[in-house]
Amino acid sequence: MSDIKTIEELGEFGLIDYLTRNFVLQHLQTIKGIGDDAAILDYGQKKVLASTDLLLEGIHFNLMYCPMKHLGYKAAIVNFSDIYAMNGKPLHLLVSLGVSKKFKTEWLDEFYQGVQLACEVYGVDLVGGDTTSSLTGFTIGMTILGEGIPGKIVQRAGAKANELICVTGDLGAAFMGLQLLERERRVFISSGGGQPVLEGYDYVLERQLKPEARKDIVQKLLEAEIVPSSMIDISDGLSSEVMHLCKASAAGCRLYLDKVPIAPETKKAAEEFGIDPMVCALNGGEDYELLFTVPVADFEKVQGIEGISIIGHMTPPEEGSRLVLSDGNTIELTAGGWNGVKE
Ligand code: ADP
Ligand code: MG
Repeated sequence: MSDIKTIEELGEFGLIDYLTRNFVLQHLQTIKGIGDDAAILDYGQKKVLASTDLLLEGIHFNLMYCPMKHLGYKAAIVNFSDIYAMNGKPLHLLVSLGVSKKFKTEWLDEFYQGVQLACEVYGVDLVGGDTTSSLTGFTIGMTILGEGIPGKIVQRAGAKANELICVTGDLGAAFMGLQLLERERRVFISSGGGQPVLEGYDYVLERQLKPEARKDIVQKLLEAEIVPSSMIDISDGLSSEVMHLCKASAAGCRLYLDKVPIAPETKKAAEEFGIDPMVCALNGGEDYELLFTVPVADFEKVQGIEGISIIGHMTPPEEGSRLVLSDGNTIELTAGGWNGVKE
C-alpha cells in the first residue's frame, strides 16, 4: 500500500507543500517564493511582485447569475488584491482563458469590458495571456505583476506579540450576496423560471458581484507613514486569514468578536437567512479587505484613517489563537470553525 496521502488528506496547503517539497530556490533574486499573497523578486532597483489566480466555472462562479462584465472585473480585482496585500502596486496583467463551444464573442467582449474597467480604475496594463478551447466550462487564469517600494513590502510573516490587528472595511457581505443569489437560483429552477427577488439587497449583491480591492488603503498607509508589520488579503474568511498571519509570524492572537466590522445590510440579510452574521465574517470569504498588524505606537495614526477597525492584538505563540466572545469568555480560533457555539 502506498504511504502517499490522498489529496483529500493533504488538503489544499498540504498538497502545495508536498508537491513543491523538492524545489530549492536557485536565484538570490527570489526574496520570497511560495507562501505569501505574491512572490517577491529583486531586480536591482525594482522589487517585483507576482501572483496568479485560477477561476473555474461551477467552482468559483456561476454564469447563471454572474454577468460577464462583472466576472471580468472581479477576476482582475482578485488578482490586484494580492499585490495590495504585499503593500505593492499592481501594474501588468496577463489573462488566460479556456473557452467552451457554447460561448459567443459578445460574451467574451463583455468579459473584457469588465477587465478593461478594472484596469482603468486601478491603473493596470493588460500585457498578454493565452486563449484555448475548453471541453467543459469557462476557465480564467490571471497573472498579475506589480511593484513594491524597497523596505515597504509587507509579508504575512512579521507580526509580533502585542501588535494591533487591523482590518479594513466590513466583512461577510460578499458571502451573504452569494447566499442570496444561490437562493434565487434555486427558486428560479424549482419554479420553472420565476423572477428573482433581489431588491433591497444592493449592498451585499454588489460586494459579491463587483468587489473592489483596497488600493485606497495602501495609499493612505503610505501617506500616514505606516508600514504594517504583516499583511494578507481576506479571500477565505477572517479566521482563516488570521491563522495564516499567526502561522507565518510564529505568533498567537486575541480577536475580539465585538470589534469585527459587519455592515448593517449584512446583518439584516444574515438574520433573514437564519445565519449568525459572525459566521459570514469569520468563515465567509471573498471580502478582499486587508488584514494587517501594526506596532502599538501606530495606534493613533491607524485610528486617524477612515475605514480601518482594530479588532485585536497579537500574542506570544504559547497563548494560542483566541477569540474573545461578547461575554468575555474566550474560545480557540480555528480556520472556518466558528459556529457560534461556546466551548
Ligand atoms: P492566495 O489565496 O493569496 O491566492 P493561495 O492560498 O492560493 O494564495 O496560495 C498560497 C501560496 O501557495 C501562494 O504563495 C501561491 O503562489 C502558492 N501556490 C498555490 N498553488 C501552487 C502550485 N500549484 N504550485 C506552486 N505554488 C502554489
Ligand atoms: Mg491573497
